[in-house]
Amino acid sequence: MTQFTDLGLAEQLLKALASEGYTTPTPIQAQAIPSILQGRDLLGAAQTGTGKTAAFALPLIQRLLSQPRRMETRSVRALILSPTRELAAQIETSIRAYAQFTTIKSTVVFGGVPVGKQIRALGQHVDILVATPGRLLDLVDQRAVSLREIEYLVLDEADQMLDLGFVHALRRIATLIPKKRQTLLFSATMPKPIREIASAYLTDPVEVSVAPVATTAEKIDQRVVFTQPGEKPALLAKTLSTPEMERAIVFTRTKHGADKVVRQLEISGIKSAAIHGNKSQGQRERALGAFRDGELRILVATDIAARGIDVDGISHVVQFDLPNVAETYVHRIGRTARAGASGIAIAFCTPEERGDLAAIEKLTRVAITPMGEVPYWDGRTPKKPPQNQGRGGRGQQGGGGRDQGRPQGERSGRPQAKPAGGGQRSDAPRNDAPRNDRPQRSEAQSPRKDGGAAKEGLGGVAFLQQRTQQPRTNGARRRAN
Ligand code: AMP
Repeated sequence: MTQFTDLGLAEQLLKALASEGYTTPTPIQAQAIPSILQGRDLLGAAQTGTGKTAAFALPLIQRLLSQPRRMETRSVRALILSPTRELAAQIETSIRAYAQFTTIKSTVVFGGVPVGKQIRALGQHVDILVATPGRLLDLVDQRAVSLREIEYLVLDEADQMLDLGFVHALRRIATLIPKKRQTLLFSATMPKPIREIASAYLTDPVEVSVAPVATTAEKIDQRVVFTQPGEKPALLAKTLSTPEMERAIVFTRTKHGADKVVRQLEISGIKSAAIHGNKSQGQRERALGAFRDGELRILVATDIAARGIDVDGISHVVQFDLPNVAETYVHRIGRTARAGASGIAIAFCTPEERGDLAAIEKLTRVAITPMGEVPYWDGRTPKKPPQNQGRGGRGQQGGGGRDQGRPQGERSGRPQAKPAGGGQRSDAPRNDAPRNDRPQRSEAQSPRKDGGAAKEGLGGVAFLQQRTQQPRTNGARRRAN
């Protein structure tokens, strides 16, 4: 196995890695660091959670150290662009940690906070600037910073930058920095617009790719609970009340939905806080700080706000709403199982969301294990229930739920491998949500390896049994376990 010492990193950096507790490089680090040290441009397919920040930051710091230069005031040597403030702050914190035994200085600028402090920070000696594109351009226009001496450019989470509409800002920034530079571009997905940006920004890049879908998902015990929209708040309160729920992020599709969930949880006596784009920077930082310190167990977030959140020890990711875009599901579950830990992801799925679930299972090639009973509308059961049976989540295929008649391996909750090609069920509703052009990776085609041996969150399906133990008109048996 590759060691950090094999990668050609300087002593000061190895010392910092040891003090951070990193023992071995992650795959993206092992692949990217040697090429970046050689001065090559790089196109990296990797998402947050893979260790990509250190993959670009370590060789960048080393190159800056090995070629010291006198800089004009308000000029920086390396620029790292990030789509969100949280991610930008996170990257800069990591850089400080990696550069702690060197003379390299960094600062971070992003919108939503007063600009004065950032202008003052840029007046000091700064080698590495981490920035969100909008605030960076404001500061350039105010002559608070010059990009004329940039030698290194990193575009992080480029797909998110495009999604957030930063394409024009990126074009303008490109006109402000020297053509002769080393450029690194990282993106979780590689759709055509990213390939176009890559060919415009990079010269003869080395391409590296790590497989987040399978390798991250492998350590995550993925579960789905079939429910009805009106039942979700009570189901969430119940889910979050279990002692295993040490630190959880709850995802909602909208900002309004996030606030509503916080209010509903409060009624159930569960303390939580929401982070989303309508919250002030101060509110977001306070919520995140409390979550990180362990004062707050539950954070309710929208997808954009959650990008770049790097909090260790998130035991559960709960998807109150399923996303329309299957890739988002993968980003969400990646909040748990960080850096080698394992985690549990629970998704709530209503009949309206069944198509979204099918698209997610097709993308990840994992049949997500149901918790509790599987209603007829899931599409896993072969035929509809008798007419007199009621509808939706309460409907039950006669006689005993999902496990009846299934092989033992399935009863243990082991996700089932799909047939090659993704295996969307012919009777499942189709999902026409746009799909990203993720490069095909061999790992992504294998099912989870840890299967039923993974942590059994919430004590299996026990917490759902109360809900399902209600009189049945068709004499259906209760689940035996
Ligand atoms: P990133 O993908 O850069 O957001 O990193 C994800 C998490 O992994 C962060 O908490 C890093 O501190 C941590 N990390 C990065 N590289 C390593 C490594 N080689 N060993 C252990 N943890 C790491």
